[in-house]
Amino acid sequence: MQSKAKILLIYTGGTIGMSKDFKTGALKAFDFSKLLKHTPELKQLDCEIASISFEKLIDSSNMNPTFWAKIASIIEDNYAAFDGFVVLHGSDTMSYTASALSFMLENLGKPVILTGSQLPIGDLRTDAKENLITAIQIASLRENGQAVIQEVGLYFEYKLFRGNRTTKVNAEHFKAFNSPNYPCLAESGVHLKWNSDLFLPKSSSSNLKVEYVLDTNVVIIKLFPGICETVLTAILSIPTLKGVILETYGSGNATTEEWFLDLIEKAINKGLYIINVTQCSGGSVHMGQYETSTELKNHGVISGKDITTEAAITKLMYLLGKNTAPKDFKTLFETSLRGEMI
Ligand code: ASP
Repeated sequence: MQSKAKILLIYTGGTIGMSKDFKTGALKAFDFSKLLKHTPELKQLDCEIASISFEKLIDSSNMNPTFWAKIASIIEDNYAAFDGFVVLHGSDTMSYTASALSFMLENLGKPVILTGSQLPIGDLRTDAKENLITAIQIASLRENGQAVIQEVGLYFEYKLFRGNRTTKVNAEHFKAFNSPNYPCLAESGVHLKWNSDLFLPKSSSSNLKVEYVLDTNVVIIKLFPGICETVLTAILSIPTLKGVILETYGSGNATTEEWFLDLIEKAINKGLYIINVTQCSGGSVHMGQYETSTELKNHGVISGKDITTEAAITKLMYLLGKNTAPKDFKTLFETSLRGEMI
């Protein structure tokens, strides 16, 4: 008989564990033991749960690569002892963290499920309990001694998504996340319905390797009608800048004004990586489909295909952090590493 799955809850902060400061009315983090006290249902789950908490809980707006490294190192240190990991995280930057972890955790062979909630766990109408309980159930599922999910997922409001395909779309609704270019991996109703054909292939290596170095000399530039030469010149002249996520229109289109194309050409010639990602919430970049993207392609702009901005910026930090050789950078960026793009 299979022993009970061992799950490690990693509590970083976020609304799920907050309570109202009655003086100011603002939501503030409270300690983790209270979070567990509010969820006696966890005792009924058929798994052993241990927990570890950031000493100082954070609102996820304060998330950064140092905290990503901290989460990754908790997972690495406890990898052999646990069957799955559930990361409790604020929803605001959860898609960035899910994307970053998906790249940092190389050869991942166990589930890492991020979840959180729109209302604190102590709130009468909270969405936290369902999110937490089902995320733990998903993380504990095994088949023939192997984890069912071997990737970084994000569970929210009845759906399990591939983490690096998600984006936060609503600050109010319980359905706060969407995965516009990839269907959900599982849906929770009366039964948990799995779309197993959509999972990442099982890891062939059992050796988790964590890439801790992320290079933050990067920027996201969102194009808009009226973006001007002075501003763009200033950004692209930052001496330490190494890579740009360029959010373009539609299928990867941008203005064809000469100053703009000259700036892009100069930036690429001096060694900057420019990645074309669409501003649309769904669909893909196809450079060359319109005249307004042909020059970008000719100048060597990298295609972000159907990647989210969250996955694109973290993939850029990851590939730069790994000191990827310039000759390989474009090919690697345009290759799906963790199912983040087509
Ligand atoms: N501001 C909170 C955070 O991201 C919102 C949430 O948890 O949903 O930490």
